[in-house]
Amino acid sequence: MSERHVLTQFTDLGLAKPLLKALAEEGYTQPTPIQAKAIPGVMAGRDILGIAQTGTGKTAAFALPILHRLAADRRPAPRRGCRALVLSPTRELATQIAESFRAYGRHLGLTVAVVFGGVKYGPQVRALAAGVDVLVAAPGRLIDHLQEKVANLSGVEIFVLDEADQMLDLGFLQPIKRIVSHLPKDRQNLFFSATMPGEIGKLAGDLLHNPLEVSVAPQATTAERVKQQVLFVEQVRKRALLAELFDDPNFKRVLVFTRTKRGADRVAKSLGVVGVEAASIHGDKSQGQRERALAAFKAGEIRALVATDIAARGIDIDAVSHVVQFELPNVPEAYVHRIGRTARAGASGTAVAFCSDDERNLLKDIQKVTRQTIPSFDRRNDRALGAATAAIPEPAAAKPERPGAGRHPHDAHRELPNALRNTRNRRRKAKGQGQQGQKSANTGGSQKRADNAAGASFKGPKRSIASTKPWSPLD
Ligand code: AMP
Repeated sequence: MSERHVLTQFTDLGLAKPLLKALAEEGYTQPTPIQAKAIPGVMAGRDILGIAQTGTGKTAAFALPILHRLAADRRPAPRRGCRALVLSPTRELATQIAESFRAYGRHLGLTVAVVFGGVKYGPQVRALAAGVDVLVAAPGRLIDHLQEKVANLSGVEIFVLDEADQMLDLGFLQPIKRIVSHLPKDRQNLFFSATMPGEIGKLAGDLLHNPLEVSVAPQATTAERVKQQVLFVEQVRKRALLAELFDDPNFKRVLVFTRTKRGADRVAKSLGVVGVEAASIHGDKSQGQRERALAAFKAGEIRALVATDIAARGIDIDAVSHVVQFELPNVPEAYVHRIGRTARAGASGTAVAFCSDDERNLLKDIQKVTRQTIPSFDRRNDRALGAATAAIPEPAAAKPERPGAGRHPHDAHRELPNALRNTRNRRRKAKGQGQQGQKSANTGGSQKRADNAAGASFKGPKRSIASTKPWSPLD
């Protein structure tokens, strides 16, 4: 019998009572496989080499035993420092990890702080000053704090490197080494990565001492769980094809991936044009904009969230109904990460990838890495799509990519995703609260123009996808 079957309940793992109470409140009774394997090892003080991707429950796999250990050996957090340090590649993931620590540790009275770039230094410096039990940090900003000597890592007892492969993809190898040089030699190390190419293996070898290896959900597992389809289509007709997908009401909460930030903005706009509420998130958006877009997506106020890989990494949104890859990623592993967004915590999901002729080589690499042939449908030379493409005006050219582009410091209202703003305005108008004249023309104008251009009842291409039978693009 496997270890998983022996340890089927959280109560079997010996976790402190306040943790079990918090888990019960979260509605979690059974550990996921990575949790069942990693938690006893971490509680016993072992180093861990975890091969697991987002969606496997790996955050709780380290957060729970860390909280347990910190609570079992209470001592003041070191000034300007922390007892447990978690490094995360992105701010979204850092925020989510910190939220998990807070949720699971809510009955323990331990402190948690988060540090990442793109926001003011002051509050982070103040949060660090007295010391915290758990610090979750993105590498760049943590190094700034170390340089300014407002952070001191000499008291770290437990060090977690999360999403190590993504860290290296983002060029964080040197920053990680620098941060590690500030840590005391005597510490516990937990290392998590979705993939283990040679470079990551070497970093793990340098960091870990006699690690317990825990591995779950090898890449093919996600690929097996998710229903996948590739649609061959001309690059210029992708917008129309995307609009067509949204004719299917089952496309409720859809994560759309693009390769570039500008591409994300353009795709979100083109969805807005055909009446699909959408917002984009990427590295040039302010923290406030990202949080609002995410909240609107989670609340079901918008149907589509268009994201670049980096912005989407680690976003923990349950019940993403579909993942659409508007462009294929350059790195085959990213394909697996993307489709995994619709199969959270063991659920199944549907992923559709668009592939233009110049992306065929990328598709070949993806199929090689995932050891599968993805069912494909040829939508090239499709008349309905041609007509629909002509009916959807090309969104206005985006402004050049630069940090903060398009932001207006005095108008928080502008930070709302356009589609959401339009929807809210429409709702307000429906309630008789709408403002007439110039203001409504400014906020709802593009929608109105698009409606006029395509006919007032236009809701995307006519070829709609039947919702009552399994979807096939050949229908
Ligand atoms: P992660 O891989 O850490 O991003 O977690 C993926 C999702 O699974 C998150 O939404 C968690 O809240 C959820 N989750 C984690 N552990 C469990 C569990 N034991 N039972 C049910 N859901 C869980």
